[in-house]
Amino acid sequence: MSPEQLENRIGVVEGDITKQQVDAIVNAANTTLLGGGGVDGAIHRAAGPELLEECRRLGGCPTGQARITKGYRLPSKRVIHTVGPVWRDGHRGEDELLAGCYRSSLALAEQHGVKTIAFPSISTGAYGFPMERAAKIAVTEIKKILERKSSIEKVLLVCFGRNAFEVHQKAVREMVG
Ligand code: ADP
Repeated sequence: MSPEQLENRIGVVEGDITKQQVDAIVNAANTTLLGGGGVDGAIHRAAGPELLEECRRLGGCPTGQARITKGYRLPSKRVIHTVGPVWRDGHRGEDELLAGCYRSSLALAEQHGVKTIAFPSISTGAYGFPMERAAKIAVTEIKKILERKSSIEKVLLVCFGRNAFEVHQKAVREMVG
């Protein structure tokens, strides 16, 4: 695939992930999958109580892995819940665990025939992962999937705020094309 084609398949937008018109949105959840603050809280509020009910039946999720549910009242049909690592000092496997979040979320998306998917910047809020470093990991893993034959047509990186948008745009510009 040419760099231009790849670039067209990774979008960076500033906004609220709960408003995205995509097949699946990714939630930066915690290991209980029982809701929380940040993007997790916003997703549960927008999806309605049925989402928590379905999450309860999943019995949690280990860090670096992902689970899929329906989207209920969200515009997206599915939610992929992934658990990012809590940043400690960068020497506790944080990078590999974060890469695992993107890999397992994208693998689940493929298994369910998802064509368009939106990610928040996993682990960069309450979990304290440095955003530039997280953005590079996100773009690396997304690029790897899109370079293979994949059902996924478009990946959106949904950034909360101007700074997040600029950091992610820079990562895409530097790493794609
Ligand atoms: P984590 O615990 O994985 O760090 P957070 O929800 O605290 O998860 O933050 C992850 C990222 O999601 C942060 O960059 C935060 O600014 C962003 N975020 C928070 N709310 C939303 C939202 N509604 N849409 C998109 N991104 C959001």
